[in-house]
Amino acid sequence: MAWAEIDLAAIAHNTQEVKRWIGAKTELAAVVKANAYGHGLVPVSRAVLRAGADRLAVVSVSEAMTLRRGGIQGRILLMGFSLAEDAPAIVHYGLTPTVNSQALAAALSDAALAQGRVAPVHLKVDTGMGRFGLLTEEVVPFAKELVRRPGLRLEGFWTHFATAEEADKSFTRQQLAVYQQVLADLHGAGIHVPVRHAANSGATLDLPETHLDLVRCGILLYGLYPSPELNRPVDLRPVLTLKARVGRVRTLPGGASVSYGRTYVTPGPTPVALVPIGYGDGYHRCLSNRGMVLVQGQRASILGRVCMDQFVVDVSGISAVHEGDEVVIIGAQGDDRISAEEVAVWGQTANYEVITSLTSRVPRVYLGADQAG
Ligand SMILES: *Cc1c(COP(=O)(O)O)cnc(C)c1O
Repeated sequence: MAWAEIDLAAIAHNTQEVKRWIGAKTELAAVVKANAYGHGLVPVSRAVLRAGADRLAVVSVSEAMTLRRGGIQGRILLMGFSLAEDAPAIVHYGLTPTVNSQALAAALSDAALAQGRVAPVHLKVDTGMGRFGLLTEEVVPFAKELVRRPGLRLEGFWTHFATAEEADKSFTRQQLAVYQQVLADLHGAGIHVPVRHAANSGATLDLPETHLDLVRCGILLYGLYPSPELNRPVDLRPVLTLKARVGRVRTLPGGASVSYGRTYVTPGPTPVALVPIGYGDGYHRCLSNRGMVLVQGQRASILGRVCMDQFVVDVSGISAVHEGDEVVIIGAQGDDRISAEEVAVWGQTANYEVITSLTSRVPRVYLGADQAG
């Protein structure tokens, strides 16, 4: 059995650090999409709000509904694409959608009138991501039509950066300039937007001029940096530790093949231990013959393929390994630490994917709730 320990006191600390860095004039929207990057949507949301996050940000209506049903109040920004058919639920749950079509705007207006509410909405301009959001020339005509609709209040205007986690900030600066120009065009058309936002974690660290009225930070709250290329003006604490208990321990004879496909064959007698976590838990199969774990504070290499539920590690040179011993897959043990970044390098991916991949089979154990504020 594998489990993840989530340090809520560390999440609170990281939230306060980001708040300190952005200053009192800028809001922090804590990005808790994708099950709070694998850490658990509702407990993490509660912790970041208590620690001073001003609002939450998710992608889908269903994520926001899970938050409301979990008793989370406060503002929730929807950063994703919503459909007109979602409008009644968006208004009912008091969400703040990003409006991407007049069909959605019309449906939100109808729902707001029907429910006797005013729905705050945000607009997004695509300045270089090429996913969704209005094209630059569409923004002013779109906004003019939107502000005429009853029941809606244009609260925010935002964009998203494509390369903020890279050392070279030239494209990010270019995106910001395009965004500022469209904002000026909106002002020129007599449309004023109170909440302007653009920065993700990378831009929040490296480009204070992108902070505007609000920053949308995810990865920093989980104690990780978007990439090794950025400034580190905030003190972050790691939040997630992934652990399991040693299963069977034994010595395989020389010439024994390990796991599916026989991709590893022991060169001689080899002491091995079974670690009960696999790709069914979100520990990717591409870590076969590449990954390492900590046993007794020492590194043990994965032999052969990672299976759905388990893999085998080489424990040669590690004394007294017993069934039931704690194995650390991500995090510290003894004097050593395996970071999400290191696992990402082995798996040729990003730390974001390593943590977000953990599946619902892995129980999340919350620590530090009493110190989380
Ligand atoms: C996920 C996401 C973020 C947060 O990104 P981090 O790099 O984790 O801070 C911000 N904005 C949008 C639109 C996102 O989709």
